[in-house]
Amino acid sequence: MISSDFKQQAVSYLQELIRINTSNPPGNEKLAIDFIASILDEEKIDYTIVGKDPNRPNLVAKIPGDGSLKPLLLTSHVDVVLANPDEWKYPPFSGEIHEDCIWGRGAIDMKQMTIMELICFVFIHQQKIPLKRDLILACVSDEEAGCEYGSQYLVENHPELIQAEYALNEVGGFSLYQNEQTFYPIGVAEKGVCWLKINLKGQAGHGSIPHDDQAIVKLSKIISELDQKFLSYSLAHSMKGFIDGLASSFKFPQSKILKSLKNSSLANFLFQNILPKNKQTKSFYALLHNTATVTKINAGKKINVIPSKAELEIDGRIIPGHTVNSFLKDLKGILGENIDLEIIKAWDPVEVTENSDLYNQICTSLKKYDPKAITIPYLIPGFTDAAWYSKLGIKTYGFAPVKLPPDIVFSDLFHGPNERIPVEGFLFGIDVFYDVIYEFCRG
Ligand SMILES: [Zn+2]
Repeated sequence: MISSDFKQQAVSYLQELIRINTSNPPGNEKLAIDFIASILDEEKIDYTIVGKDPNRPNLVAKIPGDGSLKPLLLTSHVDVVLANPDEWKYPPFSGEIHEDCIWGRGAIDMKQMTIMELICFVFIHQQKIPLKRDLILACVSDEEAGCEYGSQYLVENHPELIQAEYALNEVGGFSLYQNEQTFYPIGVAEKGVCWLKINLKGQAGHGSIPHDDQAIVKLSKIISELDQKFLSYSLAHSMKGFIDGLASSFKFPQSKILKSLKNSSLANFLFQNILPKNKQTKSFYALLHNTATVTKINAGKKINVIPSKAELEIDGRIIPGHTVNSFLKDLKGILGENIDLEIIKAWDPVEVTENSDLYNQICTSLKKYDPKAITIPYLIPGFTDAAWYSKLGIKTYGFAPVKLPPDIVFSDLFHGPNERIPVEGFLFGIDVFYDVIYEFCRG
């Protein structure tokens, strides 16, 4: 077990790290990386700092094992999304403790995990715990803006530093309460990304004489098609486990309705006609379909001129079971074969199995510290650094354990105002996280 003075130290480290403003853009992650490096310096632990931009570095450190098993990577990003102080109850970069929580941007996404990983890493080093696997610590930049300076850079330029069999990463391991049961979703899959641009052309003209070849009208048709039509359904392995797990907490008929979502035609019928159009339905929809959302448009400069050009950008997300290519086909099925889709950025979805020693250890450790814990697999609708690590064959699980009280909902904290982590829940997380690493790596 990790000692309580280490856990207390973790609370003040987290407060300090939150106070370092690493809002991305621009990131300024160097300040956070320097802070982590100073802690490793005190402990006389070697590390390597590499990066594409000196202000946006990545830190990697390693505790060698005996080599009988392949390495485990503990990874986190140190950048955060922007915060508008006007929307917050306490200042977003204060790191203050109020109402039994540590408040601030990054408290959940994901400076708490940076510190959780760091403190376990330092403890194992200090205690000279013999390991069968190398334990690698990676603190990276730029996840929130697409990973270019962070995990993408590491994977493309320094794979030897982070090559591992497994990785532990963000989004997963948080408590989720449903009908008096306590679930802990574990991230085993992520949707892929397909960010696209469409350029539309038409005839220019005077605004006083509308004609039939207008770029803006073509643009509006695309928006309405995407708003009204469904892209392909696919049941990811992780979603099957998630639905079965959750359904077990419901009684008939809710359990039956939930299980019906595993069937594509039933699911689409329910989404179209029966289910309420609320946030929960929308998130189930996104976890079962390819999606394409128009997020940017650019057209026209003068009120009395019909522009000859209009462009729009689409945030496409690819469900496991599809690839970038099949996603493009899917989209053309709605927008027509002749549409010209310009790819800005794209990668396939990733999914790892729940049948692994690491996943089993996660279940065992959660149960040890929360006997009520029911572990279920989880598909992350967004992307994380796992998308890049998967290119090296690293099997990454979303597991940043935290126990939240029932009135604090994980998804509201993520990128939202008033991001905070309960101190008790954070300390619980450190215990569980340490137990997983110790049991999985010890010699
Ligand atoms: Zn994150």
